[in-house]
Amino acid sequence: MRLVLLGPPGAGKGTQAARLVEKHGVPQLSTGDMLRAAVAAKTPIGLRAKEIMDAGALVPDEVVIGLIDERLGASDCAHGFILDGFPRTREQAERLETLLAEAGWPGALAVNLRVSYTDLIRRLTGRRTCAVCGEIYNIHHRPPKRAGRCDRDAGELVQRADDREEVIQERLNQYDQQTKPLVDFYRQRQALVEIEGEGSPDELTARLLGELEPLVFAGAGKKS
Ligand code: AMP
Repeated sequence: MRLVLLGPPGAGKGTQAARLVEKHGVPQLSTGDMLRAAVAAKTPIGLRAKEIMDAGALVPDEVVIGLIDERLGASDCAHGFILDGFPRTREQAERLETLLAEAGWPGALAVNLRVSYTDLIRRLTGRRTCAVCGEIYNIHHRPPKRAGRCDRDAGELVQRADDREEVIQERLNQYDQQTKPLVDFYRQRQALVEIEGEGSPDELTARLLGELEPLVFAGAGKKS
């Protein structure tokens, strides 16, 4: 079970990856989360990435490939993983193929979440994340019970620096130019599932599981 979640920023990759993780017990590998952790810890990678991320641009390929290369070697990835936000360029996709082949694993299956531009803007501007546990909310579609506080642990809900409107446009441009071509990359390899990403997170999860379970999850380490 080696999945790549494709789709523009705001398509629901992080939310859906977390749900698949909960249901199937394979790790979620989010380069965005790894980079944000590096920024918060002020590591050399974090210091290099912060400005780039705040501007909505892409961090250099060798940096994110290095993060993924290291993470894929961990024992919890042996039975599969869900990549969220990687690959984002052709170079990254090609390197991922090489890394998987070197490990003796089959190529990844990519899932493309399709969402309209208007919906993306609404989702991104409304997104809030718990500063404690990382749970994702949306002030329009999935508000917390108490404004500004996480339902799970009452942690403060914060807006990502790159979810400000002026940065969102640049992130969507980067997606169109660099990442969207990967849909064809995986289609040519017959390793692509296209999913309609509109609607609520629950509707999307149901659609996703309906498409994926017959393909990759059948009997593969399911949690009860
Ligand atoms: P995300 O949380 O996936 O939306 O990523 C947030 C930001 O981290 C992006 O806008 C990029 O600046 C950076 N980033 C995350 N993943 C990658 C990647 N695979 N390649 C380059 N930059 C990335």
